[in-house]
Amino acid sequence: MKAMLIVADGMADRPIKELGWKTPLEVARKSSMDFIAESGVCGIMDIVSPGIPPGSDTGNMALLGYDPYRYYTGRGALEALGWGLEVREGDVCFRCNFATVDDDLTVLDRRAGRISNDDASKLAESLQKVKLSDSSVKFLFQNTIQHRAALVLRGPKLSASVSNSDPKKVGEKVLEVKPLNNTAEASFTAKIVNELLQKFHRILKNHKVNHERVKRGLPPANIILCRGAGNIPNLPTLSEIYNINATCIAVTSIIRGVCKVAGMRLTTVEGATGTPQTDYLAKAKAAVEALKGDNHFVFLHVKAPDVTSHDGDFQQKIKVIENIDSMIAYIIDHVDMSETYIAITADHTTSCVTRNHEGDPVPIAITGPFVRKDDVKRYDERSCSKGGLGRIRGVDLMPMLMNFIGKVEKFGA
Ligand SMILES: [Zn+2]
Repeated sequence: MKAMLIVADGMADRPIKELGWKTPLEVARKSSMDFIAESGVCGIMDIVSPGIPPGSDTGNMALLGYDPYRYYTGRGALEALGWGLEVREGDVCFRCNFATVDDDLTVLDRRAGRISNDDASKLAESLQKVKLSDSSVKFLFQNTIQHRAALVLRGPKLSASVSNSDPKKVGEKVLEVKPLNNTAEASFTAKIVNELLQKFHRILKNHKVNHERVKRGLPPANIILCRGAGNIPNLPTLSEIYNINATCIAVTSIIRGVCKVAGMRLTTVEGATGTPQTDYLAKAKAAVEALKGDNHFVFLHVKAPDVTSHDGDFQQKIKVIENIDSMIAYIIDHVDMSETYIAITADHTTSCVTRNHEGDPVPIAITGPFVRKDDVKRYDERSCSKGGLGRIRGVDLMPMLMNFIGKVEKFGA
């Protein structure tokens, strides 16, 4: 027996007035997701706990069975790991954005118009040459996808207890990074980060890539915002817990980072981009291949619905859901359903109205040879709430899937 968990990032939503108070999932045509619901057992799931909006990192950690309150150490380290940066114990990692500010350092666009990978790479190349005044500190800076980037600081006197420079809101000023405790390490780290970000800003302001962007009517990526300082989390791997081989199919670096610390193999799929234009079929084929190999568990993540939700574009979200549905159709057609459990869920609700992650529960459906099929026929937020799983927590899902495939040890005699 094998299991596949399909996570559609931020797919769950709230009812939307323009959709007649339905959610994008309730409007989309999605016969394959509905097949999983109809042939399987359904429920709703509080990814972290009721009412708590999960990040994609804590959300996916919980979905892999790790309590984020126990294990989470900040998203910076996960992002950096997921991008393949070499992160060592004690390194302080940040998650960064290329962003646009005016002359007063007020944020105009937190994503610099979702800058292209090409422009971001050229800018990052220049930033990598910056020299810090204190030679005991080394840094790695790498752009990842679009506006996203990772920063790793390495040195003997560093601490992850520093605040963000990212105000997380358009119209607000970039923040000074401050120590979050009284240690010399935290003060020193804050000083280094501020120095580095100022040097980055100076280079970006005058960079020819940005001059060209302005000429093309695009917002210049003239600042790096950083947040989520942290070290590498220390987790028992999935193979240590369940004695399984597990593969992750995801593009988003933070998700790859979560899977990497969980000891999973990381697959790279050509044409998968983490955007609504990703190659859905290529991801489906990779997932089927991974399941045919020696993997017991395949984790398939699609970022696109979250992207459309943050843009508030519910019409595109509906199309993305329909594309994910065709991806699932291919998977169902190409795996041995008498030997496979397939679960579909989201790592959190992302509202197209608030354009944010919300703490509302997400729908979960699991199909497979021996599930206790319930009466739910459709995969969406409201239908699944009537299902046989009831209301579960994110960390419960992984043991449930592993139990189905016979990988959970008995507790007690
Ligand atoms: Zn997410």
